[in-house]
Amino acid sequence: MIKLVCPDCQRQNEPERIYCHDCGARLDRSALAKVAPKQEDPEQTQRRLKKMLDPGRIRMRLLFFKISKLILGACVAAVLIQMFRPPEVPERAKNIELQQITFDMENAIAAHSTAPLQFTETQVNNYFVNVVKNKHAAVSKVLEFERALVNFEEGVCRITVERSLLGFSIFHAISYNQVKAQDGTLTGTINGGTIGLMPIHPTIMKYGESLFTDLAGVLDREKKLVAKFGSIDFHPKVVVLTPKAPGAPGDARPEPTAPPSATP
Ligand SMILES: [Zn+2]
Repeated sequence: MIKLVCPDCQRQNEPERIYCHDCGARLDRSALAKVAPKQEDPEQTQRRLKKMLDPGRIRMRLLFFKISKLILGACVAAVLIQMFRPPEVPERAKNIELQQITFDMENAIAAHSTAPLQFTETQVNNYFVNVVKNKHAAVSKVLEFERALVNFEEGVCRITVERSLLGFSIFHAISYNQVKAQDGTLTGTINGGTIGLMPIHPTIMKYGESLFTDLAGVLDREKKLVAKFGSIDFHPKVVVLTPKAPGAPGDARPEPTAPPSATP
């Protein structure tokens, strides 16, 4: 803040004042003009304007924007095209008999069987058709849920969901490896994903896992059943569920009941 010093009494006056607040002497306001904000050198301004308005430069800049827009547009189009391209998936099955997958799993658990259960990709997919058909209300209506599919490869389980958006089919997939049953829930590591034919990096796919929430909800009972098994092994087109070894931690076998405590 600039102060105007009174020539008579040396009082520092506010810059708005014309006369000294104390003695009424006229203040020298010319000091204010000296500290006024520095103006840009007019020559410099002219040079800057000339540079800005140079027709060659303008043309270059417009061309640059045009090309950038073109490239960006092409990229967006390429991504969209890839996203809407359907992957190779089996035809929709018709008149599927209800697969007794949950029944088999429940029986194996109840009987404390140690024999591994084996299901093929086709059996699981047929099962999915029925489950999802029966619980259609629970799956997303925004991006209309059409169907879910699994693919089993060595150590890897891929889940694909087909949805329809304004009459177009969109397929999105997520794949897991190291699928294990832990404390009654299934865990796995996301190792990839796709939207249409466009691959999605596993790190990004972590955020895309929410695209499968509705399916996971519908298959909650099945997931819990599978989690009761000791190991879940994926092989090409086959999944093998091995029951927990008898006496292993978390075995479904009832624990021998301890006698009631005698302490009062
Ligand atoms: Zn004064």
